[in-house]
Amino acid sequence: MSKSINFRPPFQSETATLLVAVRCRPLNAKEKLRFRDILRVVDDKIVVVLDPDIAKEYLDKVQGRSKEKQYAFDLAFDYTNSNEVVYQRTVGTLVPNVVKGFTSTIFAYGATGSGKTHTMVGTQDDPGLMVLSLRDIFNRIQMETEIDFEVTCSYLEVYNEVIYDLLERSSGHLELREDPEQGITIAGLKKIQVNSADRILELLEEGNSRRKTESTDANATSSRSHAVLEIVVKRKEKNNYNAPVLKGKLSLVDLAGSERASETNNAGQKLRDGANINRSLLALANCINALGKQGKKGLSYVPYRNSKLTRLLKDGLSGNSRTAMIATVSSSSDQYQHTTNTLKYADRAKEIKTHIRTNVGTVESHISDYQKMIDGLQIEVQTL
Ligand code: ADP
Ligand code: MG
Repeated sequence: MSKSINFRPPFQSETATLLVAVRCRPLNAKEKLRFRDILRVVDDKIVVVLDPDIAKEYLDKVQGRSKEKQYAFDLAFDYTNSNEVVYQRTVGTLVPNVVKGFTSTIFAYGATGSGKTHTMVGTQDDPGLMVLSLRDIFNRIQMETEIDFEVTCSYLEVYNEVIYDLLERSSGHLELREDPEQGITIAGLKKIQVNSADRILELLEEGNSRRKTESTDANATSSRSHAVLEIVVKRKEKNNYNAPVLKGKLSLVDLAGSERASETNNAGQKLRDGANINRSLLALANCINALGKQGKKGLSYVPYRNSKLTRLLKDGLSGNSRTAMIATVSSSSDQYQHTTNTLKYADRAKEIKTHIRTNVGTVESHISDYQKMIDGLQIEVQTL
């Protein structure tokens, strides 16, 4: 495993819109007894996957055949990398701009059990990106003595295309509204003013205990909802009544498990959850696709309205925002299929971004690759 950490800024170009990072989680004690480690990270950028079946065949008889597949990303983290390191190289590069009034969005995408919540929320001993972002924001605010700041947080979930407040003990359905002045707002969503990062982990843990989880064949505590922490930082010059108020926003999204509902033998309510989870992920993919076309043609319709998740994240996904995707994967050989699916999804997201940035003329062919993936997902949704 590669241990050298080079803290170079990952956003190398002004036009780069999507940073794609992959994080590999280790096998747990139980998995170690039955399964093998199939992932290797090289040079902080490349994930090498060993196909467990091909590997066996290879060792048995197929000499010279490649048993490994490689994927390159902006960043790749192995399990020697703590949440702190993941933070510094991803969200940590965006937070200085959030404090100055810009918008950023971070997604954790991956199958159930791959490490999305570990990365985003974490624990007391190893706090995740949500907590580390707030700590960083408050450290930066303290250094700017000439500016008045106000920091507020909200934490919600989208479950079955319905929005619930995770900071309320028993939240009803919340309505999403589009205001010409304020953009997307959620009527009745609790916004907590925070003065330090200390209390946020407590609030997040409380909120997470309210998240809708359901036992499925795939995992005993499969997360069926998307959780969004929104941190808003307002800044205004001190003692200057005419100074504008600038509003920075950081959205951190812990997506529902990306695995296919059809693989889990679900029925009834759970099937509907699966269809909606896929619909939101599909809508997200469609938006990223359209944003890619925007890079080429200037203007293109972006279908934000197709799901609650994309409507919510409209600001965070549009042109002026910086977006990072952290794809989480398990290294355990029994998760090979999920791991491969996630790496392919992340790989396509990365291709679109790279070609927008470096060679606008070739975007179309890569969009068509991406369209194939979207068509595949559409078939998947239709067959549920
Ligand atoms: P998800 O939210 O994607 O369903 P979790 O974040 O709940 O998955 O992770 C599943 C389990 O794996 C948890 O017990 C978590 O502590 C552990 N885990 C996840 N990522 C890591 C990591 N990078 N290092 C160590 N343990 C991890
Ligand atoms: Mg989770």
